[in-house]
Amino acid sequence: MTLDAGHAICSQMWSEPLASIIVMYTFSTKNNVLMKLNFWSLSSGSSGNCYYLGNEFHGILIDAGISATSIRKFLKNMDIPMQTIMGVLITHNHVDHIKGLELLTRKNNLPAFTTHKIWKSILTPDKKISPDCIHEIPLRQGFQLAGFDIEAFPVCHDAPETIGFHICTCDKKITIVTDLGHICQTAALYIKAANLLVIESNYDEEMLDSGKYPHFLKSRIKSDHGHLGNYQTAAFLADNISENLNIICLAHLSKNNNTPEKVLQTLQQTFTERGIILNGQQQISVLNRDKPTNMIRLIE
Ligand SMILES: [Zn+2]
Ligand SMILES: [Zn+2]
Repeated sequence: MTLDAGHAICSQMWSEPLASIIVMYTFSTKNNVLMKLNFWSLSSGSSGNCYYLGNEFHGILIDAGISATSIRKFLKNMDIPMQTIMGVLITHNHVDHIKGLELLTRKNNLPAFTTHKIWKSILTPDKKISPDCIHEIPLRQGFQLAGFDIEAFPVCHDAPETIGFHICTCDKKITIVTDLGHICQTAALYIKAANLLVIESNYDEEMLDSGKYPHFLKSRIKSDHGHLGNYQTAAFLADNISENLNIICLAHLSKNNNTPEKVLQTLQQTFTERGIILNGQQQISVLNRDKPTNMIRLIE
């Protein structure tokens, strides 16, 4: 894989925009060779979510909330062959997470993984997903895919069921939680265990309150089963940030009720008020809403 010259967003560069591929080097325990581990956001936000995690041999996708054509095109642009993608993990049935799922399973025969309850909510009569591609996974019990140890955990959101993923490979732990109204104890455990965290920062509280959305929709978004606001996410991170949490990607921004600047301002203000000082190794960035983000390379 070729990697363009990227830049890391470090703790001193709050206003620096936007992360994309994060490259971590780690040793494979099996053959003791140096192995890359890449995380890449293809799209993150209320209009579509899709993330890639992989090494030089194979990878997985998390959600397929943009068109299959866009996913294939973005991967090709990054020299990631589609045949190296071993499966897609699905968090819930909202369209911004499954828009491209049907075609990826039909045309690429891509195995898809989610819980029984989420499959039931996805498999409506109009959905033509190849039965061979449907794989059920348990909650809070690990399973393996492409060398990754993966655990799905429940989060609070207004879908029949919604899950986050905690993914471990070698000594790296990645937690992805993009749609949740509040951070319950279970989700907090997985978030706190992460070295790389992708967490929702969906709306700016003031923008939502003063915006044009009808009252019922504002209430839904702010509810315990809606989405995380900037201040909610910032306060949780301020209370729980630790040395092992090296990379934080703020994700799933609302198109109408948020901006990357607001996300970073709120986080910076909250951390400053609470006396949180990041160490030089910690990186924080905001993922692009509707396009892949620029590349970050981290060499350990
Ligand atoms: Zn969503
Ligand atoms: Zn959702």
